[in-house]
Amino acid sequence: MHEISLMSSILDTLRESAIQNGINNIKQIKLVVGKFSMALPDSLLFAFEALGREELFKGAVLEIEERDIKCICQDCQHPFSLDNYYNFVCPNCTGRKTEIVSGRELYIDYYEGD
Ligand SMILES: [Zn+2]
Repeated sequence: MHEISLMSSILDTLRESAIQNGINNIKQIKLVVGKFSMALPDSLLFAFEALGREELFKGAVLEIEERDIKCICQDCQHPFSLDNYYNFVCPNCTGRKTEIVSGRELYIDYYEGD
């Protein structure tokens, strides 16, 4: 489950940032996860529960916003969203030359604490 290693590096980033900002307890964390990052929100939540056990994360709420996969057709420049990543076909011209412009992202949007 690669969500474990993803979450592990997210928590490292948060720990580092919390130290720099003098934060002792994180209350809320918001992640943005592109559907093409292949990280499942449920697995990320599970990884968070398993890994974020110290005082810093006590009571913290993890919110995950999923972002659709957005593509642009190379043939007709038609932009479209994908809900199924096995079907990279342009709905406008049925072309198969598509470029993914977003959906791979996985980052901490913000976190709050004191
Ligand atoms: Zn097209």
